[in-house]
Amino acid sequence: MSGTTVTAIQRAGVVGAGGGGFPSHVKAAASADVVLANGAECEPLLRADSELMALDPARVVRGLSLIRESVGAKRAVIALKRKNGRAMDAIAGALRDDGGIELMPLANIYPAGDEFLLVFEATGRVVPEGGIPLDVGVVVNNVTTLVQVADAVEGRPVTDRMVTVQGEVASPGTFVAPIGTSIDELIEGAGGALLPAHAVIVGGPMMGHLMETGGQPTTKALAGVIVLPVDHPLVSSMSAREAQVLRIARAACCQCMACTELCPRALLGHDLEPHRTMRAIQYAEFPEDHRHITSAYLCCECGMCELFACPLGIQPRRILADLKAELVRRGVPNPHVRTDLSPDDVREYRQIPAARLTRRLGLTKYDVDAPLREGRLHPSRVTLLMNQHAGEPAAPTVKAGQEILRGDVVGEAAEGSIGARVHASISGVIESVSAEAVVISTAAAERGTGERGGGSR
Ligand code: SF4
Ligand code: SF4
Repeated sequence: MSGTTVTAIQRAGVVGAGGGGFPSHVKAAASADVVLANGAECEPLLRADSELMALDPARVVRGLSLIRESVGAKRAVIALKRKNGRAMDAIAGALRDDGGIELMPLANIYPAGDEFLLVFEATGRVVPEGGIPLDVGVVVNNVTTLVQVADAVEGRPVTDRMVTVQGEVASPGTFVAPIGTSIDELIEGAGGALLPAHAVIVGGPMMGHLMETGGQPTTKALAGVIVLPVDHPLVSSMSAREAQVLRIARAACCQCMACTELCPRALLGHDLEPHRTMRAIQYAEFPEDHRHITSAYLCCECGMCELFACPLGIQPRRILADLKAELVRRGVPNPHVRTDLSPDDVREYRQIPAARLTRRLGLTKYDVDAPLREGRLHPSRVTLLMNQHAGEPAAPTVKAGQEILRGDVVGEAAEGSIGARVHASISGVIESVSAEAVVISTAAAERGTGERGGGSR
């Protein structure tokens, strides 16, 4: 059964829907004694996972049961925030018939959904430096991923997902959108932007990024889109250039340590002290074997240090992310591999309530319901990126001009690689093919086409 489940997940192209995009069949093929469903959805303003749990709790439970069976776990836990009452009631109801799965209510803090924190809360185990939850016998899957796993074993590939549209739009909501739908079209679905000049954050306000060009498509890992005024402080922070970010850090950091005191990974015992990294970058040529430079490998880029902790607008997260990329480019391995970690005694008292964070981000006025819209969006064109997952990009398997049905494979992972298949999310005609993307259009088809059972949310 477990091999069948792994194959079905691989064939369906399921990847981590919570943002990471890691191919799910790899996790399902592992051995673990605990499986965790991550329904924390801790990024402010996002609602897609909560809406999904309220709508389809039985599918979340089914997906988790399949993963539990596949990895041979004794214990299964669904973690979600207590404040999401509708989702909590729905999941509790679905679990009434399944006494073997625990419900773990979470406080409304950020970043409750960080995998390492979730593993610690559920098991008391600390994921080692440079490690993954599997190193301590735990497999974590996002709840949207689990619904896609349940669909996969019934032969339905990943073609859709729920995406929340929030911010300066006429009618915030959560939409079932075919993968590859243009983000501009999603915003139109939410009644359009209220400001002629606006910026778009792709993903959540803490870990997302600014949309650079119009027409960017949704991916399997994208849960939210936020429209903000161009002069919003979050937009200014995200659009700051690398040189400017470095210059400000070098000139202004007062070594107050607030960034380190609130860093969730440091509080778990990892050797990460962003204030010391800010000191280590004082020189133009950074020493690549310096402990507080290589500690960039331990940063999960949660953004707590720069968007909440720092009183001076310094951006340790940006600097650590850039350092990490540079270390990888230079081929410097991660030397931080300690396993004997003890969380800080004060960890519990340094957790930040999400409402306070939302206020600090200047987003309270946008923190409104984003109810699920009935039906599915029907874009006339989708752009299916070949690298919308972690690992190797998929290779296109179709040609321009070819007719295609929703659910057909359009991109295949290379044999033996860590990667994922990509499926057509609408029926139509292949408009163009490149190494980066396959574009499908219905406008060119104009004739009745069926589908092959796509439809995961
Ligand atoms: S982004 Fe900042 S707070 Fe978050 S893990 Fe990295 S250093 Fe710590
Ligand atoms: S919080 Fe800001 S000023 Fe304080 S040590 Fe960290 S980066 Fe420097």
